[in-house]
Amino acid sequence: MKISGRSSDSGEMITLTAESGRIVSIVSGFDEDALGGADIWVAPGFCDLQVNGYGGYDFNEAVWGNGQEVSSDLEPLFSKLAECGTALVYPTFITNSYDSIKIGLNRLAKLVESNDGIAAAVPGFHLEGPYISPVDGPRGAHPLEHVRYPDWDEFQRFQEAAVGRIKICTLAPELPGAIPFIEKLTLSGVTVALGHTGAEATILRDAALAGASMSTHLGNGAHSILPRHPNYIWEQLANDTLFASIITDGHHLPPSVAKVISRVKGTERLALVSDAVALGGLKPGRYADGRYEVLPGGKIVTVGTPYLAGAGHLLDVCVANALRFTDMSVSEAVRSVTAIPARILGTESIKGHLKVGYDADLTLFKVQDTGPLEIASVIRSGQVVYRK
Ligand SMILES: [Zn+2]
Repeated sequence: MKISGRSSDSGEMITLTAESGRIVSIVSGFDEDALGGADIWVAPGFCDLQVNGYGGYDFNEAVWGNGQEVSSDLEPLFSKLAECGTALVYPTFITNSYDSIKIGLNRLAKLVESNDGIAAAVPGFHLEGPYISPVDGPRGAHPLEHVRYPDWDEFQRFQEAAVGRIKICTLAPELPGAIPFIEKLTLSGVTVALGHTGAEATILRDAALAGASMSTHLGNGAHSILPRHPNYIWEQLANDTLFASIITDGHHLPPSVAKVISRVKGTERLALVSDAVALGGLKPGRYADGRYEVLPGGKIVTVGTPYLAGAGHLLDVCVANALRFTDMSVSEAVRSVTAIPARILGTESIKGHLKVGYDADLTLFKVQDTGPLEIASVIRSGQVVYRK
């Protein structure tokens, strides 16, 4: 298969050939017979490190809705992700009962094992919680009754249910036992991210020394009012060993904050994530027995609180907003959903770049004056999974 358009790496016209799921050649120049177009950007496949669900489909046993509104059927979710440019996804399981987390992980692990198309879309799973802060604000929309202290035996049972596919764990380092837990996770090859935390400076530093390498949705999962300084947002911003993920859906961070985080972390330490939930993409209204509300414009709130309940947009919106909110170029914004996630997860030798020998995961798109990116095609492991 041949793909042609403007390279997101170099800005030059390229024609790329994919065979058996890999990129086998890249030559300069445009080929009008290839998939793509002279006005289309050709990028490595967009990778979202944090997706709970979308469009009425849920990885989380329908946490974000109820059985009538949200389906736990998973296959259609991968098509919806592709329509919005997402080639690769780390399905995200949030704080829940032991059984619910375990069942969710195992169900998806079995699906990945039995379905090559889905396996091509899922480099790993993200466990966000249940080892997070119980405090209102940092806890976000995670259910208080299921928040708990780090438990290595329990985590190993989760990892077993996931058949070893948990690759990121987001936790709060101030919990009892968290620092040795971070060391064990890191030694076992799991990327540790700090999130839903109210930790003080020394604990954040200890966590990074123990192996934590990322801040999850920095600036969210936080108190609505904080001391001006010191506070855990400044500390994580200033810690150069921590990558940061941010949600540029237009609701989670004001444009000025997204701009500042992108400047401070630099384009080599910033990943854009959607944090989309099952209610994302659904009609405005109240869901889950009135617990959550989708507002016009796609903002999703926990009714009766000042807190958001996950996001309603995917990377086509987040990348387009990042181009408007920050001074990132197209190439830099693309890196924040391709090369940087691959670097965070240690997959950068096969994913996240337009290079010969790399996996043929590609996202083809146009930048529009307003609204989301226009997604032209998405390719996973050399297979076209979406074409406009
Ligand atoms: Zn979160």
